[in-house]
Amino acid sequence: MNKTGVPEMFGSMVFNDEVMRARLPKDVYNALHLTIDEGRELDTALANSIATAMKEWALEKGATHFTHWFQPMTGITAEKHDSFIVPQEGGKVIMEFSGKELRKGEPDASSFPHGGLRETFEARGYTAWDPTSYAFVKDNSLCIPTVFCSYSGEMLDKKTPLLRSAEAVNRQAVRILKLLGDTETTRVIPTAGVEQEYFLIDKSALEKRKDIAFTGRTLFGAAPPKGQQLDDHYFGAIRPRVMAFMCELNEELWKLGVLAKTEHNEAAPAQHELAPIYSNANTATDHNQLTMEIMKKVADRQGLACLLHEKPFKGINGSGKHNNWSLSTNGGENLFDPGKDPSKNLHFLLFLSAVVHAVDEHQDLLRTSAVSASNDQRLGGYEAPPAIVSMFLGDELTNILESFATGESYSAAPAQRMKTGVDAIPDFKKDTSDRNRTSPFAFTGNKFEFRMVGSSQSVSDPNVVLNTAVADALAIFAERLEKCDNIEEEIKAIIADTYKAHGRIIFNGNNYSAEWVEESKRRGLLNLATTPEALPCLKSEKSVALFERHGIFTETELVARCELQLENYVKVVMIEAHTMSDMSKKGIIPAVIGYTGQLAEVAAAKKSIGMDVENSVETKLTRYISGLTSDMFEKIEALDKAYAELPESESYQIQAEYCRDVVLSAMEDLRAVADEMEHNISREAWPFPAYGDLLYSV
Ligand code: ADP
Ligand code: MG
Repeated sequence: MNKTGVPEMFGSMVFNDEVMRARLPKDVYNALHLTIDEGRELDTALANSIATAMKEWALEKGATHFTHWFQPMTGITAEKHDSFIVPQEGGKVIMEFSGKELRKGEPDASSFPHGGLRETFEARGYTAWDPTSYAFVKDNSLCIPTVFCSYSGEMLDKKTPLLRSAEAVNRQAVRILKLLGDTETTRVIPTAGVEQEYFLIDKSALEKRKDIAFTGRTLFGAAPPKGQQLDDHYFGAIRPRVMAFMCELNEELWKLGVLAKTEHNEAAPAQHELAPIYSNANTATDHNQLTMEIMKKVADRQGLACLLHEKPFKGINGSGKHNNWSLSTNGGENLFDPGKDPSKNLHFLLFLSAVVHAVDEHQDLLRTSAVSASNDQRLGGYEAPPAIVSMFLGDELTNILESFATGESYSAAPAQRMKTGVDAIPDFKKDTSDRNRTSPFAFTGNKFEFRMVGSSQSVSDPNVVLNTAVADALAIFAERLEKCDNIEEEIKAIIADTYKAHGRIIFNGNNYSAEWVEESKRRGLLNLATTPEALPCLKSEKSVALFERHGIFTETELVARCELQLENYVKVVMIEAHTMSDMSKKGIIPAVIGYTGQLAEVAAAKKSIGMDVENSVETKLTRYISGLTSDMFEKIEALDKAYAELPESESYQIQAEYCRDVVLSAMEDLRAVADEMEHNISREAWPFPAYGDLLYSV
């Protein structure tokens, strides 16, 4: 690629503002902006005019089809392509695209998950254009970002609640800003920057490892002699094949207007990360979906497999997705910018307090926004944040908030300078607090970083919870401020009260330590370790009230979302169990029987020439492996039994608990024997590529 071409290439496949301004009649462009900026409705004539311009542009980009691009509750994106062709007399066609087609689509919704919201005979679903997210051309199709709902009006997707929650936090934040005397801000926009972790392995592994192919993770695999003990992968030099992948990925993403910015090796071998520059949370969510899709495609083209699973390898770091979140005014001011002296910045401290309130009050919802069978493998595990939600603020901010609560005066620690001790390198000012990599929810300078989210998940859910919970806290603050006589005194009182009531959520120490588990219990924080334990919180009375208060979800929608995720959990675990049983019976057992046969043959041959075989290696090994084989066979039978006895007639909640307690533990038992077996038989005899082969295959 010609590097000077990046500015030209960037966004070249996006119907963005620049293209709209160039191609739409001025009045249409202005009307569309009123829709985008203020949510005004677009009439048919305008929609037609926009559709025509979009089509002309898309044809120039090589598009032959259009599709409504939406985000059903599967967490991945869906598309159904229609060509632009309209038949003409004489067997000809012309390429057409109407405002109606732009604004509304009608995919058959029956095969999308709905969590009981819709019977299959009520299959009608609608997609409706989201003009706040740019259309783009991908794979010769004009993709139009849309929301997705059922015939009866329930939302069936991940975008609608996100848009609603952005509105909710906008309403409350603007309300507060007005009370603080801000006359300029008319909108407050949640922003997100989504760091994406992933693994790259050689594609050939997928054919040999059905576990990765079917479930996205390894269900077997003895620890390799070299894992990540030496920490030599993190930020290490990027190998050529990985570099080629990153280059092509960047190009593809840039064309689609994704602000791919930072790339580096992550902590585990074969693990990498990509971070874009942040944008509004709606676009950032769309772009993260695109990023995951394009990562898989580019990897495939280059003979690689991109693993987005949260825990592809046992004993090796898992992959997460850091959701960096903040609030920005339409004037471009970041509401979480502490400024030079945070202790005197009451506006900042008020907004900060809203987040402290929100995270403590709705810990359970934040936790539910990061649940899945696959993320359960990662959270609480090696190098992953625990399932306990807490918040890192650093000593300086914590001390400031505390000083409000105690009424004692705050004096800042003197700024420290970093002395490098090298004359040519100037000294520099140190940050007031170190980073804390173990916190699930960390304030990092002027934004919050939520780290529980799994690498394969949509970031819609966490942003919905954050936006809504913070909107709610702001609403409570606004009510107090509206009633008070002295705004400044009331702000101070709110900061103090919030710290007293919710300060328990702030924890600046090591979240990976065993002491924290105890300490958090003492503080009364929740520890919702698994999906079946966490998910019911989504439909608790308190959550329903919160989401209904701000018009995000109805109770029916919340119950459906909960059911749907439980059902998904059950399915994922059952597929894993089935895959494991299959690989054991068709792969491992025959292989080890073959291997013990070889050993026995050698022993027999030795015996036939009069050697003592009773104490030979062959005999010892045959005995040991035969013992393991019987043990393994028992574990397979136990897993098969666990699988067969899933209580089908019970609720998904009960089924999910069964899967967690019975099926997953049967899987663990089986794996333990299989991994021991792998340690003890020859490399040639083992039927799958080993961890070492997978992790160092690129
Ligand atoms: P790291 O956390 O790995 O050190 P950075 O601090 O550079 O990385 O940023 C991580 C992500 O946070 C990037 O995607 C960045 O664009 C995003 N980010 C920075 N500022 C904001 C903000 N105000 N709102 C949302 N995301 C932000
Ligand atoms: Mg980060």
